[in-house]
Amino acid sequence: MKGRERSIVISEELNLEEMYRTTSMRDIAKKIGVSVSTTRRRMIEMGIKLRNLKDALQIAKPKMGSGWRGKKRPPMSEETKRKIAAARTKPGERFRLKTSGYLESTRGETSGKSQHRLIIERAIGRELMSHECVHHKDHNRANNSIENLELMSRSEHSRLHACERKKIRDEKTGRFKGGVSLTV
Ligand SMILES: [Zn+2]
Repeated sequence: MKGRERSIVISEELNLEEMYRTTSMRDIAKKIGVSVSTTRRRMIEMGIKLRNLKDALQIAKPKMGSGWRGKKRPPMSEETKRKIAAARTKPGERFRLKTSGYLESTRGETSGKSQHRLIIERAIGRELMSHECVHHKDHNRANNSIENLELMSRSEHSRLHACERKKIRDEKTGRFKGGVSLTV
């Protein structure tokens, strides 16, 4: 099917204007399976007002980090305080919540290290190797309970995230493909 024919189908099936309120044009194009330029042209034809770059970034932001980068944060929730307190795994150890959403040690010899890496390293009794990384099963970067952490090779980890993005699941288990947990 050519782009133009397809774009006509799009307008009949979907409310682009509605979608565009919460989704980037790029994601809409991906969802429909047509190019960004086809999507843009169709939206202009439909008289949908397109966003400027600043507003577009605002929409894309949740995917790029915690969304608080460069803004004043609201007061820390009790839950976050509790997590940070629970993170004091060794006497004198303190953690701060980074804008990226990860907890980072601020004192002593572990200063600058991520808490999830520290916890896994202590669990396996050695430092992580350069090809290893830690996955947060629930995607909450501050949830560093050991059950939420999974040691993976960097390649398996990126495969898992790619499969999650594309929603590719294992037929038998229903879990997302990729992401083989390393046994140590
Ligand atoms: Zn991950």
